[in-house]
Amino acid sequence: MKWINRNDDESNYEDRRGKVRKGAAIGGIGTIVVFVIALVLNQDPSQLLNVANQILPAGGGEQVDEARATENEDMKVLSLGVFNSANDIWTKIFSNQLGKQYRKPTFVTFTDETMSGCGGATASSGPFYCPADEKVYIDLAFFHELSSKFKAPGELAMAYVTAHEVGHHVQKLLGYTDYLDQKRRSVSQEEYNELSVRLELQADFFAGVWARQAVEMKIIELEKGDIESAMQAANAVGDDNIQKQMQGYIVPESFTHGTSEQRMRWFNKGYNTGDISQGDTFSARNL
Ligand SMILES: [Zn+2]
Repeated sequence: MKWINRNDDESNYEDRRGKVRKGAAIGGIGTIVVFVIALVLNQDPSQLLNVANQILPAGGGEQVDEARATENEDMKVLSLGVFNSANDIWTKIFSNQLGKQYRKPTFVTFTDETMSGCGGATASSGPFYCPADEKVYIDLAFFHELSSKFKAPGELAMAYVTAHEVGHHVQKLLGYTDYLDQKRRSVSQEEYNELSVRLELQADFFAGVWARQAVEMKIIELEKGDIESAMQAANAVGDDNIQKQMQGYIVPESFTHGTSEQRMRWFNKGYNTGDISQGDTFSARNL
């Protein structure tokens, strides 16, 4: 994948790399309370503060580990470029084809763990989109995992992951996320899982649409093996593949993302058609 015109704008970007929870995590009133307790117990307040920080959850105030603040810089540049291009593409699709206004999400990169509007996140939760705060969260270390553990190296593999998360934001704007939320209360777990698969496959389709439009709008140029590398990523993160790796067997009813074959097929469909009207996985009979 080669950039022809990369947008490095950082106005919708929050860089939390290297921000780790240690040291003075307790601030304000908390600190005063600790000092009072320290006086009463006749102990060193700073030591007590350290103990309190280990017991209590973070209450604001982070420390930046400078060495990690620029970690995985090349991956940050790539995924931010994909994020910005996806916003540009969806802005255009929304106004030209849907007659709607697109609202940009925020892109957050973090190290090890962070807080989101959907709760705490760790590196092991993988990249995700939080509809409550409309932010895409990625611990860039995931991309190393994608190439080593999931055997899907290559820039378009990383781009696919980022474009897929922006796809979830598009779904929020189009009302699919709310639809699923409502259904959650009224359908069985199995039915809900199936709806969740439909949501994920549509995000894969949207990632394919991104790739196609990014080429057509001369934002990126694809090289030999690029589409294969994105397909490899889609294949690797299929529920069947992950379950096989994690537990050694497959339970289709528990799928929430779709099989490897489905994920590759929907990404491909998005890429081949570039047409959002083809991506209604919710009314599709066969996924
Ligand atoms: Zn997803």
